[in-house]
Amino acid sequence: MSLRGKTAVVTGSNSGIGLGVARELARAGADLVLNSLTERDEDHALAEAISTEFDVVAKYVKADMSVGEECRSLIESAGSCDILVNNAGIQHVAPIDEFPRDKWDAIIAINLNSVFHTTAAALPMMRAKGWGRIVNVASAHGLTASPYKSAYVAAKHGVVGMTKAVALETAQEPITCNAVCPGYVLTPLVEAQIPDTMKEYGMDRETVIKEVMLARQPSKEFATVEQLGGTVAFLCSSAATQITGTTLSVDGGWTAL
Ligand code: NAD
Repeated sequence: MSLRGKTAVVTGSNSGIGLGVARELARAGADLVLNSLTERDEDHALAEAISTEFDVVAKYVKADMSVGEECRSLIESAGSCDILVNNAGIQHVAPIDEFPRDKWDAIIAINLNSVFHTTAAALPMMRAKGWGRIVNVASAHGLTASPYKSAYVAAKHGVVGMTKAVALETAQEPITCNAVCPGYVLTPLVEAQIPDTMKEYGMDRETVIKEVMLARQPSKEFATVEQLGGTVAFLCSSAATQITGTTLSVDGGWTAL
């Protein structure tokens, strides 16, 4: 499968799953627009390194996915957007009656509203080129719930719903829209929680991972960012032309329970 000549915009892609997705799309030949909130030398260096490693054009564009206009200008700054991966996301855990309003608003803005704005900006570009792929990084929490994650669960269920609506609006065009639903993925964010959880429960690393973090993941293994990247690349391939409006779980069996 080659994505040579295609341009992919991946939101929230200077770390974790977004970076893994960006790398796998570049491996398949896609040019890239990387994005996050920051404007550091290392963000631009990341794009340069990917460009060199995979012989693609890659640039980094700072844009805040909590601001609708910045979501839209990110897409416009790409010049072309054949593949849109909506990945930027944040989490906050609290009982609903104690859930800070600013955290609720931020989660809905970044995890859900940004998908509306980037999709609305990207679709006319895809239509003009006669080809497009939209992949939304939702979550197992787009299909099931956990306590204390009301905003995240609401946002991710919203993303899954929006995915279906966009797929129906584009069903007779050469454009697809799908959601990938990861279970627990070993990103730097998750890795950083392991030492504290070991202390909190008085457990070793292995036990914390299997008994606490992966309690709901039957495989008892994390998914990897490379596996998520490969899944997104598959959804961009010609084999996936008739796959639209659906969810693809990468969760070690979580949602089979
Ligand atoms: P991460 O924190 O490593 O990555 C999140 C990315 O989003 C970062 O690049 C961050 O800079 C960016 N971001 C955050 N706020 C932003 C903003 N306002 N504007 C632009 N960029 C912003 O986390 P991750 O685990 O790689 O998560 C990526 C996506 O995968 C999220 O949507 C998350 O909900 C989803 N997800 C993660 C897991 C997991 O176990 N790690 C599981 C299911 C779903």
